[in-house]
Amino acid sequence: MDRRDFAKQAMLFGVGAQVTFEDTKAQAQIPVDDTVYEEPPKKLPVRKVDVVIAGGGTAGVFAALAAARTGAKTMLIESKGYCGGVAVEGGTAIHSFYNLWKAFENCEKRQVVQGIPSEFMDRLTGMGGASGYPETETGFNYDSVCTNVDTEMYKLLAFTMLEEAGVFVAVNTLLSSAIVDNGRIKGVITESRSGREAVMAKSFIDCTGYGDLSARAGAPFSEPNDYASCNSFGMANADIGDYYRFLKSHGSAGQICRDTRTDEEDRFFRMGAEKLDIPGLTDEAKKIGMSMVTTTVHDNYLMYIKCNYKVPGSVLNRDDAAKAEIEIRKRMGKAVELYRKHVPGFENAFIARTSPSFCIRRGRCIECDYDISNEEIRDATHFDDDIYSYSFHDMGWGQHVKDGGSYGMPYRAICVTGIENLYAAGMLVTSDHKAHMSTRNTVSCMAMGQAAGTAAALCAKQNVGSRELSYVDLRLSLEKANVYFAF
Ligand SMILES: Cc1cc2nc3c(=O)[nH]c(=O)nc-3n(C[C@H](O)[C@H](O)[C@H](O)COP(=O)(O)OP(=O)(O)OC[C@H]3O[C@@H](n4cnc5c(N)ncnc54)[C@H](O)[C@@H]3O)c2cc1C
Repeated sequence: MDRRDFAKQAMLFGVGAQVTFEDTKAQAQIPVDDTVYEEPPKKLPVRKVDVVIAGGGTAGVFAALAAARTGAKTMLIESKGYCGGVAVEGGTAIHSFYNLWKAFENCEKRQVVQGIPSEFMDRLTGMGGASGYPETETGFNYDSVCTNVDTEMYKLLAFTMLEEAGVFVAVNTLLSSAIVDNGRIKGVITESRSGREAVMAKSFIDCTGYGDLSARAGAPFSEPNDYASCNSFGMANADIGDYYRFLKSHGSAGQICRDTRTDEEDRFFRMGAEKLDIPGLTDEAKKIGMSMVTTTVHDNYLMYIKCNYKVPGSVLNRDDAAKAEIEIRKRMGKAVELYRKHVPGFENAFIARTSPSFCIRRGRCIECDYDISNEEIRDATHFDDDIYSYSFHDMGWGQHVKDGGSYGMPYRAICVTGIENLYAAGMLVTSDHKAHMSTRNTVSCMAMGQAAGTAAALCAKQNVGSRELSYVDLRLSLEKANVYFAF
């Protein structure tokens, strides 16, 4: 059974004080009428920097760190009150710093992603906020290691490192539009409680996940709507040892990764239910898209419970998205009820953390000069303009990178089509769904962020556009910053 099939069987358990799950009436709608209001022009205060990064999520944090460390005056614009993005809101495990060596005979174990992402993860692990890179015991042909994080310590470390690097971090600040002149972005407009502001810069990076900056700048994009949305919540008062015994008693304990910091048998970093079939639980979990795979770095806390929901309409449409938020919250309540009812050790479990809004594996797909294909990924292709190497593929067994090797992400794949000084980094690139099942994963987004941040800073320093930047200069800078280039 591959991971997709497994996911179909999946379920989770949750909390929520006595939540009653029942259909609620449809949300009230107030349509727009046929009048328009013309906004008067307004003079805005101006700020000038070298590099602007829109979106302080998974990729954006690493883009900002790289740009600032390369010497650029860097501003990071993030709409929420913290940085980290989907890495602290959606994912189960951080896939993956390593190649899939355990799944292939005579395959050398290699840490394929190094550089700032690895520095970050090592530091987080040292703080007790991540698992490091322990080997998986079962399910190793999916990922041979399990790196997972404490979401709150991740957010704290992101702020700490951005501060140390001298990045100007504007949180609670929305990027609302772009000032474009003849295929070049001159500045962006932000909105916050302090009002609207114009930020002028030489280089820009779109790390918004949804591609807001690229779209506002007039770059071409598509909207594939090819994934479910999800709000992954944290569940506390949930004994993971009991969970393991429960799954084991049903012959369903899979994707096991044990906590190597202790000799105790029942401490885990990751586990998932496989082929679980309990009437009233499995079937109900399916109905709410609940996945039974989870990770933790604590004894009594499951870091991520996912309830998937495919948004009808468009995830870019405010009103469609609002309906989805309501539906997903209902599903989360139901998830908790199921856990409390069916899983021993979870009787008093409760929801301890949710994300401010649902996450999606992509909103807009931004067109770039090159679009890596799934064949290139699976064939372990490297390019003349590689900016990092990566190995993980989320499609399940049989779809992995050849022989446990790695592929390279080409520089051209982050240069936004038609705009001279704009990079895109994160889940918003790569149009082919299967190829995206690799490039969108967290560690790939982190590495892409570092590459884009370095390139943007070099462009600003040399006063050149992204297509004029010397690849040799970029490569030397990335190597100096410990980026690993595998062949
Ligand atoms: C439910 C789910 C589960 C996943 N599970 C896994 C997993 O187990 N393992 C794995 O490796 N990967 C997983 N992924 C994939 C991976 O986590 C994401 O693809 C990746 O984190 C995306 O990173 P990003 O930087 O592109 O986007 P994000 O991390 O979403 O960052 C975008 C940031 O931009 C900000 N932003 C957006 N618009 C604006 C704006 N206009 N102005 C200012 N700020 C803005 C957002 O607030 C956010 O912080 C999962 C994804 C999802 C959605």
